[in-house]
Amino acid sequence: MPHILIVEDEAAIADTLVFALQSEGFTTTWLSLGGATLEHQRQTPADLIILDIGLPDISGFETCKQLRRFSEVPVIFLSARDGEIDRVVGLEIGADDYVVKPFSPREVAARVRAILKRVAPRTTLEAQPALFHIDSERVQISYRGQLLVLTRHEFRLLQCLLEQPERVFSREQLLDALGVAADAGYERSIDSHIKSLRAKLRGVKADAEPIQTHRGLGYSYNPGHS
Ligand code: CA
Repeated sequence: MPHILIVEDEAAIADTLVFALQSEGFTTTWLSLGGATLEHQRQTPADLIILDIGLPDISGFETCKQLRRFSEVPVIFLSARDGEIDRVVGLEIGADDYVVKPFSPREVAARVRAILKRVAPRTTLEAQPALFHIDSERVQISYRGQLLVLTRHEFRLLQCLLEQPERVFSREQLLDALGVAADAGYERSIDSHIKSLRAKLRGVKADAEPIQTHRGLGYSYNPGHS
């Protein structure tokens, strides 16, 4: 079920949205701050965010701007003001839709459905199938149509990165995905697995760098460099 993040500081408004979306079968999370929204989206990415513009910490506009540096998640702005400037600014910042208060929660739910329908094929096409294909049953991954010869750890690592494009995983999180306890010393073993994975990917395409290093943070899969 698609997961919708509702960011709204007025509990009454958030409640009506939670109710309308849950009755349509969506799962929801409610937050009331922009900063917490960015953090949440980094950790557990939602499929769509409904974002109020007037928030107590940073505005919805600012939240969206910062969000766009690492996420393409669809955003619907909620605004108390029906101004042409808001509308234009909102869309320029990278919102997908715009709703002015007071709104009908059912209408918002309908827009959520429409947007998810529109973006679904885009994510599936752009993400893995064309470049990577994961066969969990056979524990195999192909890259650009070629089967990679991977160790069990390399398979798990690559699978973990591919499943959440652009998410930065710390070495500790990656060890966790391997089912290895994050004891001292082991974290460096991630680096050697990554090194070996990169060599195998370059064996398919010489200038491929789909695995990005984030200094002091960890690694991510970036489809843009595949
Ligand atoms: Ca507000």
